[in-house]
Amino acid sequence: MKRIVIVGTGLAGYTVAREIRKLDSAAQLTLLTADDGGFYSKPMLSNAFAQGKTAETLVNFRVEQMASQLKADIRPNTIVAAIDPANHVVRWADGEISYDKLVLALGARPIRLPFEGSAAQSVLSVNNLRDYAEFRGAVANVNRILLIGGGLIGCEFANDLLKGGFSVTLIHRGAALLDALAPAIVGEGLRAKLTAAGVSIETGASVTHIDTAESGELIARLADGREFETPCILSAIGLTPATNMASEAGLKVKRGIVTDRYLATSHPDIFALGDCAEMDGVWLPYVMPIMNQARALAKTLHGENTPVSYPVMPVIVKTPLFPVAVVPPPAVSGAWQSQSDADGAKALFYDSDKRLRGFALGGHFTSEKATLSKEVIL
Ligand SMILES: Cc1cc2nc3c(=O)[nH]c(=O)nc-3n(C[C@H](O)[C@H](O)[C@H](O)COP(=O)(O)OP(=O)(O)OC[C@H]3O[C@@H](n4cnc5c(N)ncnc54)[C@H](O)[C@@H]3O)c2cc1C
Repeated sequence: MKRIVIVGTGLAGYTVAREIRKLDSAAQLTLLTADDGGFYSKPMLSNAFAQGKTAETLVNFRVEQMASQLKADIRPNTIVAAIDPANHVVRWADGEISYDKLVLALGARPIRLPFEGSAAQSVLSVNNLRDYAEFRGAVANVNRILLIGGGLIGCEFANDLLKGGFSVTLIHRGAALLDALAPAIVGEGLRAKLTAAGVSIETGASVTHIDTAESGELIARLADGREFETPCILSAIGLTPATNMASEAGLKVKRGIVTDRYLATSHPDIFALGDCAEMDGVWLPYVMPIMNQARALAKTLHGENTPVSYPVMPVIVKTPLFPVAVVPPPAVSGAWQSQSDADGAKALFYDSDKRLRGFALGGHFTSEKATLSKEVIL
């Protein structure tokens, strides 16, 4: 009987396990995970606060339920330390397991900026349930927060925490919110709505020092010398794929673990998907790519070699004050055509042959998402 070992029980690990089970009831399936193996929807982390969700209530299925659904051996709190590709074995502190096929679904880790100052270690970030529980504990008795990072996750937290009753200050290094994802006109639309609702936003600004104030609160100092006193600082400046273990095992790694369109790594019998992997040089740390990757990989592992192909997959920014939907264009020459009004912004990217290759919609223009998704050429 074939033994498939999956490392990681996030969306990628659990989804590929589910897809494998649909095709193969006999495969011996083992999942190893550093966390407690509870299944939850990670995107909820940045819009759960206002709904009063705790880390416990975000869990949809506990590890025992997942083990029974998937007919799998799931080992929680098992931090895999090394892969030995030559012997088809993975190892952790007090155990090891051999595999016929290994799937790496290790996720990504929050980027930590090297702040100076005595309280630099007090900065929180939220990338899993444990972080979320810690964050909720830290803000249990305060009503102000300073957010660092105005990308997708930072803006979602700003909207959610504002709704949750916090006074929110958002510091963003770029010139416009969401500037890594969408043209400035969309980020400016979002900024206007967040500002009107009460979020204080500083763009083109970076935090350099974090110290403790006499009051016991934190002080964030910006590069231009301005200081902000706050009881809590949450950093949301981006994620970096978890690649250390793969590179130590000799697998090819660039930004993420390098895979081809079959999600095969540079080593036979080892595959990677989700936030830890870059497929064909592209890193897509979102839910929809994972769903498509998991379906294709399950077929490949079942013996039907299947390349991953993606439909048009808009990235949705969950900011109800000004929702945003983006299909980033590929790296081709072309130009954005933009328009905006008081409640929306729309930018369409046309290549030099006048073909629609991407779009970014904000506010009421998001109602055009489905129509434009049909028109866009990947
Ligand atoms: C706050 C937030 C909001 C988001 N919102 C959206 C959204 O609205 N839409 C969207 O499309 N995407 C969103 N994303 C991105 C999306 O959630 C991720 O792309 C997806 O959840 C990643 O799943 P994953 O399984 O690859 O990684 P993870 O969920 O990070 O899972 C990694 C797993 O690997 C395990 N692991 C890691 N190292 C080891 C080890 N050494 N040994 C054993 N186990 C290990 C971990 O314990 C974990 O189980 C959001 C992300 C965040 C953080």
